[in-house]
Amino acid sequence: MAKELGPKAMFVAGGTDLYPKLKRRQFDVEALIGLDFLDHRIDGSSIGAGATLAEVANHPGIRGAHAGYAEAAGLVSSPPLRNAGTAGGNLCVDTRCNYYDMTYEWRKAIGYCLKKDGDICLVAPSSPRCWAVSSSDTAPMAIAVGATVILAGPDGEREAPVAALYRDDGIDYLAKEPYEVVTEIRLPDATETMSAYVKLRRRGSIDFPIAGAAVALRLDGDVVDRCRIVLSAVASHPVEASAAGDFLAGKRLDEETVRAAAELAAKPAKPLDNADLTHFWRKRMVRVVVEEALVQATRRGGSTVKLASDP
Ligand SMILES: Cc1cc2nc3c(=O)[nH]c(=O)nc-3n(C[C@H](O)[C@H](O)[C@H](O)COP(=O)(O)OP(=O)(O)OC[C@H]3O[C@@H](n4cnc5c(N)ncnc54)[C@H](O)[C@@H]3O)c2cc1C
Ligand code: SF4
Repeated sequence: MAKELGPKAMFVAGGTDLYPKLKRRQFDVEALIGLDFLDHRIDGSSIGAGATLAEVANHPGIRGAHAGYAEAAGLVSSPPLRNAGTAGGNLCVDTRCNYYDMTYEWRKAIGYCLKKDGDICLVAPSSPRCWAVSSSDTAPMAIAVGATVILAGPDGEREAPVAALYRDDGIDYLAKEPYEVVTEIRLPDATETMSAYVKLRRRGSIDFPIAGAAVALRLDGDVVDRCRIVLSAVASHPVEASAAGDFLAGKRLDEETVRAAAELAAKPAKPLDNADLTHFWRKRMVRVVVEEALVQATRRGGSTVKLASDP
């Protein structure tokens, strides 16, 4: 159906993002293809894409082996939305922008924008592209731990890294075919890997991230064997801070290395003035969320790195 109908149809899973957007006329579709049939079982490191975020966040196996992933799922929006929103839907959720996530009347009054109904970007008017912000909480964590997804379509199934699911484009932000369904998320073996997700938002009870850091860390004693840091809400796709991860490899973790890695990790973050609070402050806070995520992941590994801010 999805292949036949093309842009006239969209998939709907929990509908927690899609339905409000349909009400605001952010999409023009004639058909919705329900995905309630998706598996919602969580079995070891395999998560059915239909599993709700609450099921992921509260699952003992995920909380034990993939603490950062459970944490990210548990920090999405609010409890009622986590009871309906799915793990698959969270990976595919639309990018966001203050000029786009508004009512139809509001957008009409300002002449619309490139992402829907208009022809210029109101954030960067001389830019030919849309800079709407990737705002999924679980996507950066899935990338940090090296997760893959199973994509099913009319031509069969394929497995792809979550990292390959995104494009740096606020409009065409998913790299999969529009008719492909995410049916499963596979988390790799996490033996000796500690993960943590730290999210910044105005209201801890419901808001989307305005900056966030996902860290997956393997330690050999106090020395970092491997580290992956992925940032949320600082670009149109989750941004991997590779230089910071590479810097940490082989280093003993202490307050100084954590701070230096956080400085490096903040460099690729280039937030624009299209999300909550000021983009200057969001940029400054990236360093802080990375530092906190690194310390949390480290503590999960039994290490006791101290920060200047610690009591
Ligand atoms: C007030 C509010 C606050 C929110 N806060 C957050 C937040 O803090 N962090 C966050 O990450 N999200 C947030 N969201 C967005 C949303 O609730 C979550 O991202 C949720 O996980 C989306 O999942 P869903 O199943 O409801 O997706 P849906 O709304 O059903 O779909 C979302 C998109 O994904 C596509 N899709 C869904 N499932 C699949 C699939 N299996 N395969 C292919 N495409 C698919 C749909 O076509 C649609 O484009 C918030 C939403 C609201 C209304
Ligand atoms: S970044 Fe620009 S084009 Fe994209 S939604 Fe915002 S204003 Fe519109």
